[in-house]
Amino acid sequence: MNATATQRADTGIDWADLAAEVLRGVPVTPEQAMAILRSGDDALLGLLDAAFTIRRRHFGRTVHLHVLRNAKSGMCRENCAFCSQAMGAYSGVDRYTLETVEELVEGARKAHAMRAKRYCMVTATRGPSARELETVCEAVRRIKAEMDIEICTSLGLLLPGQAEALAEAGVDRFNHNLETSERYYPEICQTHTWADRVETVKSVHEAGMDSCCGGIVGMGETDEDRVALAFALRDLGVASIPVNFLDPRPGTPLGHLPKTSPRDALRCLCMFRFVNPTREIRAAGGREVVLRHLQPLALYPANSIFSEGYLTTGGQGHDRDLAMIEEAGFEVTRD
Ligand code: SF4
Repeated sequence: MNATATQRADTGIDWADLAAEVLRGVPVTPEQAMAILRSGDDALLGLLDAAFTIRRRHFGRTVHLHVLRNAKSGMCRENCAFCSQAMGAYSGVDRYTLETVEELVEGARKAHAMRAKRYCMVTATRGPSARELETVCEAVRRIKAEMDIEICTSLGLLLPGQAEALAEAGVDRFNHNLETSERYYPEICQTHTWADRVETVKSVHEAGMDSCCGGIVGMGETDEDRVALAFALRDLGVASIPVNFLDPRPGTPLGHLPKTSPRDALRCLCMFRFVNPTREIRAAGGREVVLRHLQPLALYPANSIFSEGYLTTGGQGHDRDLAMIEEAGFEVTRD
């Protein structure tokens, strides 16, 4: 059944009881995760409250801000269907080669001034060349020497030895999303495989870095695909899960899709929290345009957001992000 046509039903599950089970260390089942996605609007506040009890146990009311840097834009030769920087996308995004070390360090200074816990340098590419890797590593060394901020890099698929080089330079985390379930992935990308992505995440772990690995909701996948992704991330042991919501970009193969409803987006965040109770869950790309007036409610299941926009689209702005967090009674922290 298509996710947009999912029938809402009374699941018969008491969300508070399920959260209590999770807090006792009992993992939720795929059936329970499906029930979360298929629960009705009348149960939504109760579901959010239950997800919050799990989030609060592990993260209190703290929020981690992540700031992205599009370090190399618009020139990718891969064909991910959602991506405005992909080969064949007619999206008009900026196209430039890898920024200089000084530009990357300057970006980190700005992120630090915005109280970001992490600064994430991202390149639109299948994977980094040796020269690109050295530029990023040099930027990381200089950032680490100058300021107290965690570094994430997102550079595509890694070759043997590249994860180790990044770890040695001081990278704390490497981002590489699975994007969707293994079943649905071939509908989204044909130039590399889901298994390629899993291998890169494993190489990140073997090199001693944390992984940031999530996906995108709203690409035409089913509820089963969403649940399968959440469990795949659990099984991989990723530290951080960005839950992105497709903001359909004109000029991409998915540009015609309707946006996920705000309430379905919240149910997804809750499902990821229940399946991955101790992990950082981020209300990531598409937050503003998909959640709209319900944005602050995302802070109940999620403990992290990107601030100051995304790779090729703007957000609502850093000041409004801070105001939203404060007005909802949460607290930005670097701890
Ligand atoms: S590999 Fe990354 S930059 Fe390239 S098309 Fe896929 S998502 Fe876009």
